[in-house]
Amino acid sequence: MPSELNLILLGPPGAGKGTQAERLTQDFDLPYLSTGNMLRAAVSEGTDLGKQAEPIMNEGGLVPDEIIIGVTLEALGEADDGFLLDGFPRTVGQAEALTKALEERERKLTAALLIDVPDDEIVRRLTGRRTCAKNGHVYHVEFDPPKHEGVCDQDGSKLVQRDDDKPETVEKRLVAYHDKTAPLVGWFEDRGLLRRFDGTRSPTEVHDHIRATVATLRLEDEL
Ligand code: ADP
Ligand code: ADP
Repeated sequence: MPSELNLILLGPPGAGKGTQAERLTQDFDLPYLSTGNMLRAAVSEGTDLGKQAEPIMNEGGLVPDEIIIGVTLEALGEADDGFLLDGFPRTVGQAEALTKALEERERKLTAALLIDVPDDEIVRRLTGRRTCAKNGHVYHVEFDPPKHEGVCDQDGSKLVQRDDDKPETVEKRLVAYHDKTAPLVGWFEDRGLLRRFDGTRSPTEVHDHIRATVATLRLEDEL
């Protein structure tokens, strides 16, 4: 059986998960699933899911497990050659549901890649983040500006500030992270799945470290 990489990106909002995902999916040719992107698409399409999620996202809260688990597992159903999951799981309940669903298909997680960044740096990153309206490409007004202000380098679409990247919502998202998501660090550690990276380094350094770790994990799996 060919080895598959079933990877999770873990870390506070603004840690650089999306930035790293863009690089890692290319390195390892993995399907990328971001629950944040999926939910934002549902909001802009006005689907039932979008209508339920929008007020919660704007408040900086978490969409309830009963809603997000079903739609994420369904979206993952097609990724049977490995995946890179960003933004899920965000609660212990979500992690348990994912593990169970994989076990039922005789699959397992390869690793949870934790990008560690302290709260004060998170606030700077999120309030300066700009996102491409069309495909979600990510920039930062100071740390990673586009070539032309307000325009995406990759597809020329407009760069916008996400509603939930305004300072008052950022604080609430950090509270949700510490309450509900941070316990997953210990959860993955107990299962031998946690790999930790210093997210305060430059995007290229963080990428080099993660890529080397994932390449080793893949080799170990093939041996
Ligand atoms: P997440 O997906 O974890 O929410 P993003 O990848 O969207 O995080 O990054 C959040 C913001 O921080 C973006 O504006 C991005 O350009 C910037 N950023 C990402 N990685 C770094 C880094 N290593 N150093 C400085 N800024 C970064
Ligand atoms: P970031 O990486 O910047 O925190 P995301 O794009 O991953 O943001 O998520 C944006 C919002 O979507 C979250 O603040 C939350 O409201 C909702 N969301 C995304 N993934 C989940 C999830 N797995 N469980 C609950 N809510 C989620």
